[in-house]
Amino acid sequence: MLHIGCHLSCSSGYLAMGRTALTIGADTFQFFTRNPRGGSVKAFDEQDARALCDFLAQHDFAPILAHAPYTLNACAADERIRDFARRTMREDLERLSHIPGAMLNFHPGSHVKQGAETGVKLIARMLDEVYTPDMPTTVLLETMAGKGSEVGRSFEELRAIMDAARVGDRLGVCLDTCHVFDGGYDIANRLEDVLDEFDRVVGLSRLRAIHINDSKNPLGSHKDRHEKIGQGHIGLDAMVRIINHPRLRNLPFYLETPNELDGYAREIALLRSAYREE
Ligand code: FE
Ligand code: FE
Ligand code: ZN
Repeated sequence: MLHIGCHLSCSSGYLAMGRTALTIGADTFQFFTRNPRGGSVKAFDEQDARALCDFLAQHDFAPILAHAPYTLNACAADERIRDFARRTMREDLERLSHIPGAMLNFHPGSHVKQGAETGVKLIARMLDEVYTPDMPTTVLLETMAGKGSEVGRSFEELRAIMDAARVGDRLGVCLDTCHVFDGGYDIANRLEDVLDEFDRVVGLSRLRAIHINDSKNPLGSHKDRHEKIGQGHIGLDAMVRIINHPRLRNLPFYLETPNELDGYAREIALLRSAYREE
């Protein structure tokens, strides 16, 4: 079975997201741990988290994915911004320990003129400071489009973070199809080569989740503008190859396309109908 869901708003609570996911044909979902552009967060409702866990088990959901706020920048030049990243990550991991099936995805950061090498070191240091062995959550580095000074624009940069952190062997990767395409990896025409390269540099066993998005811009544009499935430069044929690929087909897929719920429901139905059961 294809494991697929989309990004949902957490404003009505945890259990409400599970219920919403079910109504649009999803068996997983992604949500922001807090306000994505700020960082403010509601009080944690442990009972609601427990109700969600029961719901996920009852309906055979695939692992759900929490997304850290965009404002989290572990490799900022400003110490106060790095401190916010540290505190946010620590608190989010603490909360997610109450939802043991969830993974936490984050954008590695932007090095803002310090250089990628310094960026990698700062990101690894932040992870070592907050990600303790008792935490059940798997933390995922997201592949980035290479906009501005984003770290994680190449498979090598993700590998470098894993190598630099003591907790590196616990880290996974979330591959965003729009981002890697914008980053110059031609998953539309050379999927096999890109996966071989990922395997060689990072290791396919590290790949734990896929953000499935089309791109408004051509290969290598470094823009990061998501498009609806089949309406962008990656195209529907490539999307169908991706969800059916033997090395990807069992991973959870998360849509972050520009849609409301009805649009997500249609994309989920479209991809489910294109999935070949074995
Ligand atoms: Fe993201
Ligand atoms: Fe993404
Ligand atoms: Zn994006």
